[in-house]
Amino acid sequence: MSETFEKLKPHLDKSRAYQTALVLLNFDSSTLAPKEAVAFTAQSIGILSGEAYASLINPEVKELLAELCTEEEQEKLSFNEKAIVKELKKTFEDLELIPPEEYQAYQILMAKAAPVWEEAKETNNYALYAPVLEEIIAYSKKFAGYKQKEGQKLYDVLLDQFEEGFTMEILDDFFGKLCEALVPVVHEIRKKPDLISIDCLRKTYDIEIQKKLSRFMAEYIGFDFNRGVMAESAHPFTTNLHNHDVRITNHYYEDKLEDAIFSVIHEGGHGLYELGVSDDITLTPIGGGSSMGMHESQSRFYENCLGRSYEFWLPLFDKVKEFFPEQLNGVTVDEFYRAINYAAPSLIRTAADELTYSFHVMIRYEIEKMIFNGDVDVKDLPAIWNQKYEEYLGVVPENDAEGILQDMHWSGGMFGYFPSYALGSAIAAQLFHYMQKKMPVKKYLSEGNLAPIREFLRENIHQYGAAKKTQQLLMDTTGEEFNPDYYIEYLTDKYSKLYEL
Ligand code: ZN
Repeated sequence: MSETFEKLKPHLDKSRAYQTALVLLNFDSSTLAPKEAVAFTAQSIGILSGEAYASLINPEVKELLAELCTEEEQEKLSFNEKAIVKELKKTFEDLELIPPEEYQAYQILMAKAAPVWEEAKETNNYALYAPVLEEIIAYSKKFAGYKQKEGQKLYDVLLDQFEEGFTMEILDDFFGKLCEALVPVVHEIRKKPDLISIDCLRKTYDIEIQKKLSRFMAEYIGFDFNRGVMAESAHPFTTNLHNHDVRITNHYYEDKLEDAIFSVIHEGGHGLYELGVSDDITLTPIGGGSSMGMHESQSRFYENCLGRSYEFWLPLFDKVKEFFPEQLNGVTVDEFYRAINYAAPSLIRTAADELTYSFHVMIRYEIEKMIFNGDVDVKDLPAIWNQKYEEYLGVVPENDAEGILQDMHWSGGMFGYFPSYALGSAIAAQLFHYMQKKMPVKKYLSEGNLAPIREFLRENIHQYGAAKKTQQLLMDTTGEEFNPDYYIEYLTDKYSKLYEL
């Protein structure tokens, strides 16, 4: 046991307490809080954020960390304690590299940028957004420059922030393969827009009954309502205080049954990850999911690999029919399976189908690469965006609101974040491939027995929280690092069958 680590604990506990309050306020503001609360509550949030920051970023913690990084102290630490120290050290270094006055100016810019983006999107006015975007890019380049190691490319610094160990080299290979194999499939499918009908999903589905169905679906995949809750919000999300308080949300549309169903399976997948983190680390800095990509792999594993498979619906579809006997009267499980896998190139990432989803991410990735390699003018971005949509998906936005302005991430300075969305899907497919070699996954699904699948993920991924990073989790679980081939194989196979290619 390390006495120095014991001294660090009260600091960690205090920081956790502030974080808990912030998570709760955040959850509340997205679900229950009245619309006009924001400006007033924000003042308290500001103070709490400051305290949360100061509880960790202070000279005492800095000294303890320096000591804990010595060889002598490292030897006394357990696996989890080492991971906590490493995590904390990274946070410290990242923040220390940026001069405080620049950090503060950047925070002010962020606060200003969000409403500008919102207005630009609403009024379809990219010119309004461009100057702010240019400023944000300049800051991102500057901050990445502070962290840049010798020989490291600027955009790799940004990628590493969100997905440790992932570089342009890995992503170029991933997206290159994806493009080569799937652009032809997408173009073939465009020729058969009527092969699959989605009429059965477009009837009128009572929202109160959808809510009951959503709860049933969450329970079906194993979401534990003794340690979790489900609320309603404009955009579904998952958050957690620890592994005994995990919160998911859902949203409902009367004429889009699949939206609520797949949102609850998706968020349920995120929720199961957090519920599965082991008790001894849940209240520490490594107590949440490993990374954004790893988290997304779990939600997409449930949503797509399981939830959009034929076997998943075999024991389930009759039960869904009991919720909506009239609307689903005469619909077969086969028709339902095909409807929920309908694919067509579209303009909006968040509404994309499983096949075309990663292309939206790839386009964003290619543009971000151009920005950080320094060979593009911000005012030219909408034209580049539209040209890429035409090339890869065969569709062109009619305006920038449904084009380059659709996502808020850049206005929050989140460059290097998007690839994790596509990585999540590919990691899910890699895990799915491996799991099927280990156990009869499809047989379990047909029997409505999801426990062995859940247990596999808990055992290999969830319990470790952020103590292991993506590449290590994949290596330890599947015997190899990230390999995009399984994802490409999975999509090609699935959509060739569905669309009789
Ligand atoms: Zn997600």
